[in-house]
Amino acid sequence: MAEKISRRKLIERTSQAVIVGSFGAGGLGVCGLAGVSAAAADRKASPRGVDYYEKLGVESFINAAGTYTFLTASTMPPEVQAAVALAAQKPVNLMELHEATGKYLAEKLKCGGALVTSGAAAALTLGTAACITLGDKEAIERIPTDMAGLKNEVIVQKMHRYEYDHAMRNCGVKVVEVETMEQYKNAFTDKTAMTNYFNAVEAPIGREDWIRVAHEHGVPCFNDAAADVPPISNLWNYTQMGFDLVAFSGGKGMRGPQCAGLLLGRKDLIDAARLNNSPNSDTVGRGLKVAKEEIVGMVAAVDWFLSQDDAAMEKEFRQRAQRIADQVAKVPTAKTQIFVPPIANHVPHLVINYDSGKVRTTGNEVKKKLREGKPRIELNPATGGGPASAGLPSSPDTIVVGVWMLQPGEDVIVGRRLREVLQAAVQS
Ligand SMILES: *Cc1c(COP(=O)(O)O)cnc(C)c1O
Repeated sequence: MAEKISRRKLIERTSQAVIVGSFGAGGLGVCGLAGVSAAAADRKASPRGVDYYEKLGVESFINAAGTYTFLTASTMPPEVQAAVALAAQKPVNLMELHEATGKYLAEKLKCGGALVTSGAAAALTLGTAACITLGDKEAIERIPTDMAGLKNEVIVQKMHRYEYDHAMRNCGVKVVEVETMEQYKNAFTDKTAMTNYFNAVEAPIGREDWIRVAHEHGVPCFNDAAADVPPISNLWNYTQMGFDLVAFSGGKGMRGPQCAGLLLGRKDLIDAARLNNSPNSDTVGRGLKVAKEEIVGMVAAVDWFLSQDDAAMEKEFRQRAQRIADQVAKVPTAKTQIFVPPIANHVPHLVINYDSGKVRTTGNEVKKKLREGKPRIELNPATGGGPASAGLPSSPDTIVVGVWMLQPGEDVIVGRRLREVLQAAVQS
């Protein structure tokens, strides 16, 4: 009989089953679709959807690292997953969805305008394009290869140079580096399109001075705060401080879709950014497409994040770290501390040190053993002297555990595995 069911019915049933699966029987979201009893019947009859990780042989892991892009950053909370699944069921006009989303987010996040982008890096590209083109259709079509007569300089402090400069350079600009206030004041020319501030890195020129001087020259200031929530209030702190455009990553602390982000700020610049974005085809942003599922997922993630509480999140993360620390403390010479990075990833992390004369292993070996064990566990990349973002400590015999992306109960597993692996390396 299965072949008699229409394709559409099958898709409907499958997605209902997915939603039911994420909430349990009688959960939210189902009633509006088909009624609980029909959905419950479907749950028995229809497949739950194929687990493609299993089918492809890609093994998932316990995320004791944090929100790292190469580790797929975060998982969406159930209510966000449900909103995405619902959005996937119906077509809408993409422009109308962007328009409505922008209004909704601007109000919630207390700024002039908002755009859901395909990530913080995309927000940086679109913000730069906005500052160069300012709504001029011809300029929009010309960048990045024909910059004649267009502004093509972005001023940045030397300490704020980073790999994401490329997202601005995609628009045909060059980065003008400054170190002192005097150099900054002298760097403005009639070619200056924008300035960029890397929010997580303290640099000689502070935020307020940076904004004031740029505004004296009528130049907009971009702030890349991609990884800088929590606190929740950072979603409006920087626009209210005077930054004209602010970017956040959607898939990091907000736990939205990984291919989503927020561009927030001045309404005129947000409107100008949109003109450079998909679905407009002859634009620098055509490849930065966000689909309806991601747009809705981003909005749902903002709603979810706004419903959280900074103090409660911090308390929960400290408790997780402490449960792991309690296990590790049983290993001779092991010492633990809780470290909270100052701006990016501003949440409690567990840092473990030990005497490598007594515990004969390196952080890298521990990282490898956990990665290859059952279940797989990914420790923070700073472990063993790896790349340390956000000011995390890093050395050959330092282990860093990011606890904020753990699922309930996983802290116990991580603590047990760390204790086993360290204990096994103890010199007798
Ligand atoms: C993660 C990050 C980005 C990129 O964010 P995406 O959402 O992955 O595009 C940009 N800037 C900074 C500072 C980041 O930490």
